[in-house]
Amino acid sequence: PEVLDAPSMAAATEQFISGEHQLFINNMWVDASSNEMLNVINPASGETIATVSAASAEDIDAAVNAARQAFDHGPWRTMGATARAELLLKLADLVAAQGQTFAETEVLCTGMPMATAAAMAPIVARDWLRYYAGWATKISGETLAQDPLPFPGAATESFLMTRKEPVGVAAQIVPWNFPLGMTIMKLGPALAAGCTVVLKPDEHTPLSALLLARLTKEAGFPDGVINIVPGYGHVAGAALAEHPLVDKISFTGSTEVGRKIVDACKGNLKKVTLELGGKSPFIVMPDADLTKAIPMAVMQGYFLQGQNCVCPSRMLVHHSIYDQFIEGVKAGAESLMIGPGLNPETTLGPLVSARQLSRVQSYVDAGKAEGAELISGGAALDRPGHFMPPTLFAGCNREMKIVREEIFGPVLTVTKLATDDIAEVIDYANDTVYGLNGSVWTENIGTAMRISSGVRSGIVGINAHTMSDIHGGLGGYKQSGWGREMGSESLDAYLETKTVIMHY
Ligand code: NAD
Repeated sequence: PEVLDAPSMAAATEQFISGEHQLFINNMWVDASSNEMLNVINPASGETIATVSAASAEDIDAAVNAARQAFDHGPWRTMGATARAELLLKLADLVAAQGQTFAETEVLCTGMPMATAAAMAPIVARDWLRYYAGWATKISGETLAQDPLPFPGAATESFLMTRKEPVGVAAQIVPWNFPLGMTIMKLGPALAAGCTVVLKPDEHTPLSALLLARLTKEAGFPDGVINIVPGYGHVAGAALAEHPLVDKISFTGSTEVGRKIVDACKGNLKKVTLELGGKSPFIVMPDADLTKAIPMAVMQGYFLQGQNCVCPSRMLVHHSIYDQFIEGVKAGAESLMIGPGLNPETTLGPLVSARQLSRVQSYVDAGKAEGAELISGGAALDRPGHFMPPTLFAGCNREMKIVREEIFGPVLTVTKLATDDIAEVIDYANDTVYGLNGSVWTENIGTAMRISSGVRSGIVGINAHTMSDIHGGLGGYKQSGWGREMGSESLDAYLETKTVIMHY
């Protein structure tokens, strides 16, 4: 397929990216103690665009101690809730004012199309940070009934209440597919709850978090409240997960690393939330409005080049509309414009890394070997950058590796539903170790309600397939994770409940 050209970035972005990138610990910029650097590579060209200090275990220890000091002795926890909210609101304004630089930085590190980055940057900065700022002043406990104690002499008048208190030092590990969004999705509830934070961006995409760090300093967050430490997973990530002074960890990434995080947390039994993978079903029933289902299958299926956890990568399509559906998705896939994210016409960018490209290619090869019918795409492009064309497999079945495992690339699988029995459709949809997202496409309200109730996943769409909304929740059943991000539940992960009993 034809590949578009890359226009140049704005001067402000160039200035930021070509600058020095150190670790942000205790409101100061410091070099890595080991002087180790990591290279940030533009996935559209394969060229190094920046070098960034890579945190060692020693640096992680310094960052955790700064966060610990700020939590135990700093002004953050005792600061009024309104003052904390105001800092988050100020940060929202500062991030929104640099929307273009954030968007271009995201594009250059991840490969996502500019249209996606430009649309998401203001939503993430303005709406999401403001949403969490709003929560800072609305955290409350309960006043509860209390029965008199059945002991002689026990007080008969008493008062029972709960207080919500911040859990303490929160470690946050962010992946590479949606770095700014995930960073804000994690920082927002932790800060609103009154926690202090050590956040490790992914080694491929650390720049937007470092730009955000500059703005947290400008906004006036106290020392040690926010620490941003890029570094490798097996070094910096592992050190964070093991650290005894961390009270809580929030991780988004692969299920494999999620298990390692759980093991590492055993030392001090820190609280854990995990947002892991998915293999979300997209169920198309015979009465579906295909004029809506097909464009959404293409849009969400290839969104972020398929590198998104809620991707509808398992399409289950009723036999009566199967051929028509495949024809529509094929046409949609082949109309995507492949190119570097910076080109405004690009609708499908490169994959994040050479490693991810080869991982995705190996799944595509497995699909061919297993006998799935390749309808479109199927081979990485022979050119600089990590480009994989939109790939579509039909004739899939539930035993195939490409149907069972998360691919995290622009590869959709279509399985024909040879049944009219709704219970059997639900059984197909639930035949996965994951449970993050799912959707049903039908004009029949009974079918919609039955299938949406039966699908075991944290999100389910009815004539919709999306990541949810900041006001809703994001998280999974089964091996898709523990807990929820976004929405009011995301605050719970950063709060402890203290029961206070008073006799008088
Ligand atoms: P990964 O799980 O290795 O990386 C995610 C984050 O975890 C990064 O910040 C990384 O530095 C860190 N990390 C890695 N090893 C660690 C360790 N031992 N201890 C602590 N932190 C560690 O993901 P990946 O290898 O980049 O991608 C592999 C697959 O993971 C993808 O193909 C996809 O299936 C899945 N994935 C899912 C999401 C999601 O949003 N759910 C995001 C990224 C990747």
